[in-house]
Amino acid sequence: MSLMKAGEDNGRNCFSCEGFCCTQSHNSMQISPIEAAELYFFLVTNEMWDDELISKLNDNISEYRLDYELSVGGRSFRRTYTCPFFMHKSLGCPIAPTHKPYGCLAFNPDKKNVSSEGHCSSRVDLLENIERPHQDISSQFEESMKTHGLEFHFSKLPIPVALLEMDKVLNN
Ligand code: SF4
Ligand code: SF4
Repeated sequence: MSLMKAGEDNGRNCFSCEGFCCTQSHNSMQISPIEAAELYFFLVTNEMWDDELISKLNDNISEYRLDYELSVGGRSFRRTYTCPFFMHKSLGCPIAPTHKPYGCLAFNPDKKNVSSEGHCSSRVDLLENIERPHQDISSQFEESMKTHGLEFHFSKLPIPVALLEMDKVLNN
């Protein structure tokens, strides 16, 4: 969040871009249970979690085969997909920065007025810095959910798969 703000303060913002990073050409975002919970509760609180969205998430999973692990020579690879929340326009994400996955927040333009591909990057250093505290909070979250009989069976999944899994755990 503060990283995005810092970038915007320097004129490095997404205002001129159609949002390549959220499309199949660049996006392979996977999120943890706690990130899925944050996003899920944002959607529920803002009355965005409904049958239409559930159907869209399922279509997105089918279109990009996100429910099948991509494995080559014994190694797993992330599938790329256009995020189901992307609105296909500049500033095309309806998720508030406070509830976005960390990977989305960490991906930012490297220069001003970006309008084409190849001028943005992920702040891997910042993601690495938050990894340890994130793991600690995630473990606490998962333990506390377990005390209520709610258990997650994934560490990271593509956004639509993780959200539907979260819904299943909370509502079944
Ligand atoms: S991070 Fe880069 S690719 Fe993504 S919307 Fe911003 S300017 Fe476009
Ligand atoms: S959640 Fe928003 S920023 Fe992240 S990939 Fe989806 S549309 Fe892009």
